[in-house]
Amino acid sequence: MKYSGFKVLWEGLKGNTGWKPLWRKPDPKKNYDIIIVGGGGHGLATAYYLAEKFKITNIAVVEKGWLGSGNIGRNTTIIRSNYLLPQNQPFYEFSLKLWENLEQELNYNSMVSQRGVLNIFHSDSQRDAFVRRGNAMLMSGADASLLGVDALKKLVPFLDFQNSRFPIKGGLWQPRGGTVRHDAVAWGYAKEADSRGVDIIENCEVTNFLIKNGRCYGVETTKGVIKSKKVGVCVAGSSSQVMGKIGINLPIESHVLQAFVSEGLKPVIPGVITFGAGHFYVSQSNKGGLVFGGDIDGYNSYAQRGNLPVIEDVCEGGVALMPMIGRARLLRTWGGIMDMSMDGSPIIDKTKIRNLYFNGGWCYGGFKATPASGFCYAHLLATDKPHNDAKDFLFNRFERGRLIDEKGQGNQPNLH
Ligand SMILES: Cc1cc2nc3c(=O)[nH]c(=O)nc-3n(C[C@H](O)[C@H](O)[C@H](O)COP(=O)(O)OP(=O)(O)OC[C@H]3O[C@@H](n4cnc5c(N)ncnc54)[C@H](O)[C@@H]3O)c2cc1C
Repeated sequence: MKYSGFKVLWEGLKGNTGWKPLWRKPDPKKNYDIIIVGGGGHGLATAYYLAEKFKITNIAVVEKGWLGSGNIGRNTTIIRSNYLLPQNQPFYEFSLKLWENLEQELNYNSMVSQRGVLNIFHSDSQRDAFVRRGNAMLMSGADASLLGVDALKKLVPFLDFQNSRFPIKGGLWQPRGGTVRHDAVAWGYAKEADSRGVDIIENCEVTNFLIKNGRCYGVETTKGVIKSKKVGVCVAGSSSQVMGKIGINLPIESHVLQAFVSEGLKPVIPGVITFGAGHFYVSQSNKGGLVFGGDIDGYNSYAQRGNLPVIEDVCEGGVALMPMIGRARLLRTWGGIMDMSMDGSPIIDKTKIRNLYFNGGWCYGGFKATPASGFCYAHLLATDKPHNDAKDFLFNRFERGRLIDEKGQGNQPNLH
């Protein structure tokens, strides 16, 4: 299936009868070279890069539900590379570069919209921390600038600059950050992986792993046994449950994160804005809805729905930053399961079982990481060596105490 302006015109003229499904619905084969467990953004991206960059096409992506049913279709769509630590910053910048060419590469409109990400600061010490982060971004080749109050008044005049409790003192601005239509990312990767021969098997849950003499040689699923030379787990919020089937305890907890959408409004929010005095962030979708979110619910859960105290907390943050949001009606809210790691950073690594690999611990920042995570995981699966930009995302950092603690919160998954 190839898309172009000409194709859209042609289909319009002949009654839209020529569009085809983007991927097949195959039955699983008996054997594959690689099985990816989890058909979220990261699993599909991994399959695509394995096929495209490493020419391995005998792959199955095994997905418990339908494509887009997990966090890839539940997130608030923000992409950025405004990280501080040297273990993180180059990885997220690599991801942002992949986003910039993704639509051409996948021949799919995923609405990559680099409208900018603005982190507001409210005190001198917070400004100093943001200056440090901006400098780290510039040093690794990303874009960043510091905006004062006058510049902000022009860019986002609706913020509450007079707020005596949380005075706005400026913001860290990354112009290349922005938003991407989340489920279109899953569909685009699925389309291109499928066209290279990858089997995407939906409604098929992995119930156990086949392991003999310390080596993994396939999976048991609700559609039967499937064998393979290598198995890559990539199940985000279900990581602990899935790895728990073979007694592997991960340095990961699962928590709920909620998202919110208002009724459609005329264009008002220029990019993504984050509140520095609480946890609230907002952007505006192409349909006009304000898309916003805040903190995780803060207790362990595998439920894909949240609770009222966090809704109240997020709305308070929104009203403190931009009181006009109080006039908008909330249309809907939902939740997703976050794989919160001990230090807030991800893991892309082999496990202690040979031929079994793990990708997870993305906390609530894994959407922006989708392209780079898929690329680096494909690199690990194909070559057995970590990709240079993901070389620190290993399990052994927890044994060695070399945590990648971007927020400086310590080993508390619910605080990252
Ligand atoms: C409300 C919310 C807002 C967010 N906002 C942002 C944001 O703005 N920016 C950002 O960068 N990140 C954001 N995130 C985080 C981001 O969405 C996730 O980190 C990322 O999507 C996780 O990777 P994934 O896409 O592969 O996960 P998923 O889409 O969850 O994929 C995992 C898949 O594994 C499948 N699976 C589970 N168990 C099994 C099994 N036994 N067998 C087979 N398949 C299985 C699941 O069904 C699921 O489809 C947000 C998340 C949420 C919930």
